[in-house]
Amino acid sequence: AVTGSGAVYGELPRTHSFRVTGSCRLPELPEVETVRRGLRPLEGATMERIIVRKCQLRRRVSVAALHNLAGGVVAPLGRRAKYLLIPMVNGGGMIIHLGMSGRLFMANPGDPLDPHDHLSWWLKQRGATIELRFRDPRRFGSVTVLQQGDLRKHPLLANLGPEPLGNEFTADYAFARSKRSRRPIKNALMDARFVVGIGNIYASEALWRAQINPKTAVCRISRRRWGKLVWAVQDVLDRAVSDGGTTLNDFFGASGDPGYFQTRLRAYGQRGEPCHRCGSMIRRISQAGRATYYCVSCQH
Ligand code: ZN
Repeated sequence: AVTGSGAVYGELPRTHSFRVTGSCRLPELPEVETVRRGLRPLEGATMERIIVRKCQLRRRVSVAALHNLAGGVVAPLGRRAKYLLIPMVNGGGMIIHLGMSGRLFMANPGDPLDPHDHLSWWLKQRGATIELRFRDPRRFGSVTVLQQGDLRKHPLLANLGPEPLGNEFTADYAFARSKRSRRPIKNALMDARFVVGIGNIYASEALWRAQINPKTAVCRISRRRWGKLVWAVQDVLDRAVSDGGTTLNDFFGASGDPGYFQTRLRAYGQRGEPCHRCGSMIRRISQAGRATYYCVSCQH
């Protein structure tokens, strides 16, 4: 299970590959979900060879464990928070985090190797060969291998809160969980024990939609307003996912086109611009070290 030269590529749809550009920003939940959807052609493929060029990522990649996956068949891909799950049919598999600059993509034949292409997986799918590549200039990403068992039971995923797009994240849940806390709502939305996968951009956008001031103490938010906010979170994430993943101008979705969600940003990055709802000016503040954008007039 070594080397990648002389591989034969079959006729696979090229629409699932990624164009990768130089600069990097943090992938959030919609980006990871977009990657998961784009990698669906891997499902049912047989893992043939794995090449590790550099194993020192955020955590050291277990090369021996990785090579033991060879010969296995890929089961349907999953996602939990910002972790991409690549399970194998007979148990075990990989839990991949893109970190700050990671890209997981199916390489096109002849794609030159980048110095930051740390791993390649060669898979066979209906006679065609697919190369899955992990590129990560800053190496904050991680590839965790499980030899057997259910990836979802791994300690990395054990203490995570509910998925924002799942059935557990409801107004009742949020209201019950926040009755005794005075922390600002923006910080709560970004706490993975409360709800996973709501990044900085989406938190500002959801609060703008729900007309809630990001500094509001969570214990002061009524059940009715939680209902509005839960809906806003789900709407903003759904739209980002269906737009092919992103607010990030250097992120390219599965079709190779940049995400268009950025054209709909109403708060994030809009400092000094008029609010689309009331015309007042969008203000930028800092909360827990992160930029927050909101309208002082219509978010309260
Ligand atoms: Zn406004």
